[in-house]
Amino acid sequence: MQLLDTIIANKCYGRRNLSGINMWQEISRIGKKLVDHGLVESHFGNISVRIGNKMLITRSGSALDELTENSVVEVEVEGTSGLDLIASSETIVHREIYKNTSALGIIHAHCQFAVTESLLSDSGAIVPVDSEGQYFLHEIPIVKGGIGTPELAKNTARALTEHKGAIIYSHGTFAVGKILDEAYVVTTQIEHSCAVKYWYDLARQ
Ligand SMILES: [Zn+2]
Repeated sequence: MQLLDTIIANKCYGRRNLSGINMWQEISRIGKKLVDHGLVESHFGNISVRIGNKMLITRSGSALDELTENSVVEVEVEGTSGLDLIASSETIVHREIYKNTSALGIIHAHCQFAVTESLLSDSGAIVPVDSEGQYFLHEIPIVKGGIGTPELAKNTARALTEHKGAIIYSHGTFAVGKILDEAYVVTTQIEHSCAVKYWYDLARQ
């Protein structure tokens, strides 16, 4: 994880511009990685970054592997704004996470094994069986709530005060970081741990 720490140290989401890279380009880069690696289907999921009192978030229905400058909108962290209407339907969840944690980047994806494991689990969390997952995640909380509801926003934000990632039951993952690369690594780790657990449990039956 040392490389990731170096990347974090060299980036700053307090500014709109990262050494000539516009933030929408950073969001677009991560969106393409998510789709390319099968962590989400193109038209699902959403990504945001926090810049001071504002957040940039993908628009509702935008294709994560084809994001342009117009695919990202700026809304308030505290309180709603007019552009909420065209922002992701999960904007309320992103907002609540930013208000309750130190996250500066958030990724929501529909990872297949994470969703499957949430359906199979009969407890409120998934405990990884692989050593990497145990080391980095310890456990992955499962939260409940309808899409875009205040209940989901509250439950997800609460889970992410103590964890880097969580799974919404039957829906997908939410992962946070100081930068999007960190949230991306958490997303891949959750999906990897859930895949290993799925195959492990199946093989033992
Ligand atoms: Zn979703």
